[in-house]
Amino acid sequence: MSSYETTRHYFDRAARLMGISQNMQTLLLTPERELKVQVALERDNGEIATFIGFRVQHDSARGPMKGGLRFHHEVDGDEVLALATLMTWKNAVVNIPYGGAKGGIAVNVHDLSHGELERLSRKFVDEIHDMVGPDKDIPAPDMGTGAQVMAWFMNQYQKFHGFNPACVTGKPVELHGAEGREEATGRGVVIVTEALLKRVKQPVEGTTVAIQGFGNVGSHAAGFLHEKGAKILGVSDASGGVWNPEGLDVPALRAHAAEHEHVAGFGGGEAIANDDLLTSAVDVLIPAALGNVLTAGNAPHIRAKYIIEAANNPTEPEADEHFDRTGIVVVPDILANAGGVTVSYFEWVQNRQHFKWELSRVRQELDRILLNSFDKTWDIAEDKKVSLRTAAYLLGIGRVGRATVLGGI
Ligand code: NAD
Repeated sequence: MSSYETTRHYFDRAARLMGISQNMQTLLLTPERELKVQVALERDNGEIATFIGFRVQHDSARGPMKGGLRFHHEVDGDEVLALATLMTWKNAVVNIPYGGAKGGIAVNVHDLSHGELERLSRKFVDEIHDMVGPDKDIPAPDMGTGAQVMAWFMNQYQKFHGFNPACVTGKPVELHGAEGREEATGRGVVIVTEALLKRVKQPVEGTTVAIQGFGNVGSHAAGFLHEKGAKILGVSDASGGVWNPEGLDVPALRAHAAEHEHVAGFGGGEAIANDDLLTSAVDVLIPAALGNVLTAGNAPHIRAKYIIEAANNPTEPEADEHFDRTGIVVVPDILANAGGVTVSYFEWVQNRQHFKWELSRVRQELDRILLNSFDKTWDIAEDKKVSLRTAAYLLGIGRVGRATVLGGI
């Protein structure tokens, strides 16, 4: 099933429960604008390389659209549309005043030099700057991009439009970025994990965890969980995985990954294949890399009791149904990884007010928003006797639907 078919499946299930008319469903699903652009790059050796860039603006009923920029060789129109749609529901679940968007370039960033990555990022801004901006559509980091790409984005955007740091979020703290943005998605994953464990009366201390993906999100989630006494037994990334039944030394692993850019070769554990990590015997499984990794094929072998979707779209519908049937609790992506966009919202607010918050305030506001959203989702799930995913969709779609009706077309 394609990424879009997956998000569409979850939308349809919630829309049926809500009794939304077919016309309203079509209005809510149809993206407002889809853009596909040529991004030409002069390589360091003088050759010309041509890449395809995307930006999909899905819905603006609740405010300017917001969503990340992904630089990855598997980026395509279907995936960007799926992720833009997810952003609409996600922003509504955490009740921040944004609609949803997403973008990216189909490129393998590991094939680019630093200078090539900068020229590619700037060229992409040249192509899309007219349709984005602080009151229209505000990009942010995602897979393959980070604070440096956001800094280039802002700098290039300002060449056309003048000083305007709120045009993009996830910038370096030294350049109008927010304290706590980089850690925010991983921290949010941990806030909802703790909230779930509290509901099921399992202490965080001693809870065993496996994490797929050790980039921005996975490594911060591992760090915070380790601090709280959870045992991270295994992590993996594109290079392979490491496993230690006594619990990995997460600070040492983070230092290794920072130095070598991957986890493979870490001395404090044994190697484990990515597929084996997903089916390992742990309490909590956190997919924090790619989409569609939990499938009909591996779902019957998953031994975790709880799945926290740090990645976007990691679970295919057949796997989701299996988890529902067998009592594996899934905290869905549109709630579990919403910490990033929430702190991006704080960054945008600070940029607009030219007033900088302390890290303690960022964390406090993030905790408040995510715990409220988790509790609301949990209560809907109990009340309607549905999964947390369906409950989150009911919450998000309900809010977007009401804004659409109130605003009119
Ligand atoms: P990143 O680029 O920093 O890290 C991605 C990680 O995934 C890397 O460790 C990489 O090696 C690993 N990976 C790639 N291919 C893999 C494979 N085949 N098997 C195992 N691991 C693999 O990206 P990120 O920002 O940490 O994003 C990770 C996920 O979280 C994505 O799905 C993204 O959409 C989602 N997300 C990110 C944010 C954010 O703020 N960065 C916010 C919300 C959601």
